[in-house]
Amino acid sequence: MSTVLEIIPLGGIGEFGMNCMAVRYGDEMLILDAGMGFPEESAYGVDVSIPNFSFLDEYKDDITAIVLTHGHEDHLGALPYLLKRFNVPVYCSHFTAGLAESKLEEHDLLGDVLLHRVEPRDIVDLGSFSVEFIRVSHSLVDCFSLAIKTPVGTIIHTGDYKVDETPVIGEPIDLRSFRRYGQDGVLALLSDSTNATVPGRTPSERAVIPAFEEIFAEAKGRIIVAAFASSIHRLQIVLDVAQQFNRRVCVLGRSMQKNVDIADRLGYLDIHDGLLVSLNQTKEMSDDEIVFLVTGSQGESRAALSQMAMQSYKGLMIEEGDTVVLSARIIPGNERLISRMIGFIYKRGANIIEEKRRLVHVSGHASQEDIRILTEAVRPKYVVPIHGEYRMLFRHKEFVKNHLGYAEKNIILIENGDVLELDGERAAVVDKREIGRTFIDETGFEEIDSETVRQRKQLAYEGTVTVVVSIDEETGEILDEPQIVARGVRGLTSTNGFTPIGGTVSVTAPVSNNYLLADARRVITAAVAGASRQTLAEESLLKEHLRVELKRFIQKRTGAKPVITFVIVRT
Ligand SMILES: [Zn+2]
Repeated sequence: MSTVLEIIPLGGIGEFGMNCMAVRYGDEMLILDAGMGFPEESAYGVDVSIPNFSFLDEYKDDITAIVLTHGHEDHLGALPYLLKRFNVPVYCSHFTAGLAESKLEEHDLLGDVLLHRVEPRDIVDLGSFSVEFIRVSHSLVDCFSLAIKTPVGTIIHTGDYKVDETPVIGEPIDLRSFRRYGQDGVLALLSDSTNATVPGRTPSERAVIPAFEEIFAEAKGRIIVAAFASSIHRLQIVLDVAQQFNRRVCVLGRSMQKNVDIADRLGYLDIHDGLLVSLNQTKEMSDDEIVFLVTGSQGESRAALSQMAMQSYKGLMIEEGDTVVLSARIIPGNERLISRMIGFIYKRGANIIEEKRRLVHVSGHASQEDIRILTEAVRPKYVVPIHGEYRMLFRHKEFVKNHLGYAEKNIILIENGDVLELDGERAAVVDKREIGRTFIDETGFEEIDSETVRQRKQLAYEGTVTVVVSIDEETGEILDEPQIVARGVRGLTSTNGFTPIGGTVSVTAPVSNNYLLADARRVITAAVAGASRQTLAEESLLKEHLRVELKRFIQKRTGAKPVITFVIVRT
């Protein structure tokens, strides 16, 4: 049995989202976080991605627990899919458990999973590991860093954090516990890099209150605030300022209603009696008595804000005199959607206030001076930047090297799939594992393999060719001409015409005159004639043989690489 500690990130390093990491010692393994990501391939029916957990199959008897730092989707969203493969106990905070439960319920897993709720400073013994949960500040509530004692030394995984001494909800970050570990000696600090490119300190969650007070004081009509449903501190601020300015709050959008409900039920939100009103109730109220708290800050077309801007959301439309506040950052990749939505809001005559105009949003992640405070408290032997794109990991490394005096060899940049080995004396990446990702169709919670997504992409760009070939069962000879139908293929039109390649035939010429299709038929007929007895007898072999021949022909003549399907009819 090995006596080294292995740290293997399954996701979240060099990318935004999908945070997940395995920590292994001997035949024991902990999984830290199980997040989802948001792939660009969304046009192909894919909503989210998760790490490909089949990598963990070979360790299935070793996995002892899943430990969650907090409840954001990029740390929690893959939990149901992970638990479906490996049903092991989960340890997390009360609020994270609330969000996890609602997720497990959607997947019909709630009764089968052991969820352990822990308090800050609780220590849980998990075989060779013992994990202490340290309270940190973030845009969500009830978030933890994890201090993990292992036989080769202590590692601290920060989760997502910022150093906020004055959060809106709950207590400030527990720097005292970090210092306590620092005094005892920490082998490695795995540290959030999301904002490592940003100088200075990240403002406290409270910093947005003055801007909200100004906006509420100035607005004459309705106020519509779009925020992340998970930004619980922000939701509390909107509720408080609404109360202060005698407005009632109507919560719209599925995830917003769900999170307000969970946070209220678990006692994280402080909501005055009668403050919340239904959409119906707002119809009886005057405009200056209403705040709508809505989803859709990223311009998502199905979310409440976009629908209110572009058509209507449950009969509700943005109107002249409304003030819309976008109290969220722009997640990279969403710029165009947001810009389009802002255009629609202006067209409707409403005023819009975003991060660039007033301080209506602060980040939940550590800027460089926050990173300094935490790193100096922990004083680890090794710093391992995690969470973020490579640019951020690199700048994290540069900051720690140039401003905190760490030697290059003590800052380790890793990538997904790297096996980082620590034995107390040295730390090195000793292996690289292929991990990959799995896509999820969120409407049915179906896992979609990357091959399916590749095929969808190919269909969208290259089209499809379907061929029906009739073969005489007895002789193995082809009967009639093969029938070919092409859809969306460059150089081959659909059934009633075609675009000639380098030819002189009219584009409206009937298929029978299409020499390209005629040539294709000849290629198929020749391929059937040339096939061996064994190939002819075996359907899958024959299809593959014909597909390869036709693919080569179409690619050579048109440059297209369509999805080719054969139907073999034996008579
Ligand atoms: Zn987070």
